[in-house]
Amino acid sequence: MSETYDVVVIGAGPAGYVSAIRAAQLGLRTACVESGSYEGGLGGTCLNWGCIPAKALLESAALAHNLQHHGARMGVKPIQVEYDFPAAVKRSRIITRKLTAGVKYLLGKNKVDIVEGRGRLAGPGRVAVDSDSGDRELATRNVILATGSVMKTFPGFELDGERVIGSREALGLKELPGRMAIVGAGFVGVEFADVFNAFGVEVTLIEALDTLVPLEDPEIGKTLERSFRKRGIRNLVNTRVKQLDRDASPMVLTVVNPDGSETAEETDLVLMAVGRRPVTDHLGLDENGVALEDGFIRIDEWCRTSAEGVYAIGDVAGQPMLAHVGSHEGIIAAEHIAGVAKHPMTYGNIPSVGYCHPEVASIGMSQAQAEEAGHEVVTGKYPLGAHGRALTAESADGFVKIVADAKYGEVLGVHMIGHNVSELVAEVGMARELEATLDEIVSHAHAHPSMAEAVMEAAFAALGRAIHM
Ligand code: FAD
Repeated sequence: MSETYDVVVIGAGPAGYVSAIRAAQLGLRTACVESGSYEGGLGGTCLNWGCIPAKALLESAALAHNLQHHGARMGVKPIQVEYDFPAAVKRSRIITRKLTAGVKYLLGKNKVDIVEGRGRLAGPGRVAVDSDSGDRELATRNVILATGSVMKTFPGFELDGERVIGSREALGLKELPGRMAIVGAGFVGVEFADVFNAFGVEVTLIEALDTLVPLEDPEIGKTLERSFRKRGIRNLVNTRVKQLDRDASPMVLTVVNPDGSETAEETDLVLMAVGRRPVTDHLGLDENGVALEDGFIRIDEWCRTSAEGVYAIGDVAGQPMLAHVGSHEGIIAAEHIAGVAKHPMTYGNIPSVGYCHPEVASIGMSQAQAEEAGHEVVTGKYPLGAHGRALTAESADGFVKIVADAKYGEVLGVHMIGHNVSELVAEVGMARELEATLDEIVSHAHAHPSMAEAVMEAAFAALGRAIHM
């Protein structure tokens, strides 16, 4: 045990590697331990088998869809569109490799020691690392646990990697099936529905709750449903999967319909998109006094766990399980260790984005949450059907809805579906950080023609001064 570190980070996903870099920038001697698990590696799930490859495939899907369905109308007549999914996967892997190499470079540049192997707490101030090249122990004043999450499924729907798969396999499919059932219509489910529909697969999306993207404003789910239906995606909401006969060919999936009746659906492939569970096993948590809550590591607003000198960040430390949340927590934990933290972690202003087409994005309170919190609420909704920039992009499905406090006009939240809304959410996030009002949003002359104007128009609508409606 020769090294003594100020910080050892276990896990090099967007939470861990960002935290390690920030700690090193602050002059702390830092190591980052990464096991290179099935879904991980430098950059974690996000860069290897999550956010980035999924978005790369969504861009290929958008091109495929637009050429096929809008090309002729837009003046680019495709002679014959030929799908090449392996080529799209290859491109996504090239982007992934570039970014993970970038993480390695950044860690090195900041003098973070990269330690390959599986890390665990081995007593106060000690981290054990097991690896094929030999086990070792690191001495450290602080540990940051950033071990992320893995796909989950439920009994009867265990992944076999071929006919019943998860996101990891879906991102690397070599051959496309004729029919695919996607179980779960959260962001991951709807993004894959978008991709595989665009590449010609017959997609059925099955969701147990009332709407697609059920954690969003219900109107967003309904709008997405209509848009997906137009594209030929079959949406079964309020529908539960009951059992799967995977010996049959094609497989037979029994679903329970909203009225309680059952239907047998034939499918060639089942993609499970029913969420992820935190990686807490074999970390020595119990023995070292690190408490869990609902399966996640319990943390306070500085990301401290119940054990002295042990922090936890990212997916392993609870909802919302998003890359930008993990990175933000990582910076706070590192700065807290260095004694320079400026503000604690808060979760009320975290953007949530689904990159399907049309995109879905929200931040802050819904109308119901704002009312429940005691606000007298005013809302403004601006449909994109006649919005200049949306029409030029051949993508006029959707709306922007802004929620504000009636008394002073403070912006409380925004809920959007439409072309490129992933980029619009930052404006409202910043407005909320600065406690901006509707008046302040509309006092800025938004560029024309832009999707950002839709935020301004929604704010105008909330003020009762809509121009383009
Ligand atoms: P992870 O990224 O899971 O990284 C944890 C790392 O720790 C892994 O590399 C693992 O190998 C390593 N590790 C685990 N145990 C050990 C150990 N004992 N020792 C050493 N190393 C260990 N989020 C978004 O914000 N936007 C998106 O668009 C988005 N799209 C997604 C699409 C898909 C298909 C999926 C599956 C997820 C998506 N997510 C998205 C979620 C995002 O990937 C996660 O929230 C994010 O990766 C969590 O970061 P993390 O650092 O906490 O954990």
